[in-house]
Amino acid sequence: MLVPTMGSLHAGHESLLRLARREADRRGVPAAATVFVNPTQFNESADFDSYPRDLDRDALICERCGIDVVFAPAPEVVYPPGEDHAVPVLPDVATRPGLEDTFRPGHFPGVCQVVSRCFDLCDASAAVFGEKDWQQLQVVRAMSEAQRGVRGRLVEIIPGETVREPDGLAMSSRNLLLSPEARVEAGGISEALFVAAREQDRDRAQGVLADTLLRFGIDAEYAVLRDARTLLEPVPRSHTGGPGVPCRLLVAARVGGVRLIDNTGWRGGAAEPT
Ligand code: AMP
Repeated sequence: MLVPTMGSLHAGHESLLRLARREADRRGVPAAATVFVNPTQFNESADFDSYPRDLDRDALICERCGIDVVFAPAPEVVYPPGEDHAVPVLPDVATRPGLEDTFRPGHFPGVCQVVSRCFDLCDASAAVFGEKDWQQLQVVRAMSEAQRGVRGRLVEIIPGETVREPDGLAMSSRNLLLSPEARVEAGGISEALFVAAREQDRDRAQGVLADTLLRFGIDAEYAVLRDARTLLEPVPRSHTGGPGVPCRLLVAARVGGVRLIDNTGWRGGAAEPT
């Protein structure tokens, strides 16, 4: 049971680590976490350089959450020089939605590469990923299913709920980089998602999402309602209000120079925000 992370662990990660512990016990397997700031998934080297790192603290948190093994490899362990570490074939959800795939070119190829390597290096049978990175969760799930034949078995992908600050801001290692003013503005992202999630009508939900972000002065890269699994549009109009058609509201925005993403469920107003 694996929890892949880039470290700088916070309460959101802790909840994934505890979930991994419980799921590992149910299956009778060890629980491991990886701490690896993967250079191949950053499209700006300044972003990679400024990513917060504190392995000693991360190891203590893992221990407190009952994790058996912390795997914090050097880059040359993940990508041994002279070996070919091809990027796996990307699933459609990593290339077609026009969301993270468009705004962070190269990100999902890097994510698929490192996740696939970590699955193999750790011989994982299951892995926990956060709903906070919704598109990533769908990408990893689709990749794992596609690799079932190659690997000889499926690495089961277990989703973990997003943990939030008291004002609703999704916890993120990047929140540490927000100025006090930007931190207040950032609360507008979850506020906009929650208000929109209560709207019954698809177009109104998207309208309320955009309006609320504007009211907070947030200029979003995207603020959309999509099919929860494929992340494609359009969501057919007949889906408004109908149960059993999972959709997702997703936002990415730069606040005070820090790029933040968040999402929540939408079922024509029937779904509770997560
Ligand atoms: P990262 O270290 O940012 O790559 O994230 C490692 C894992 O933690 C990913 O599966 C994320 O989706 C998940 N994660 C990040 N933030 C949160 C959060 N606020 N709540 C729950 N899981 C999270």
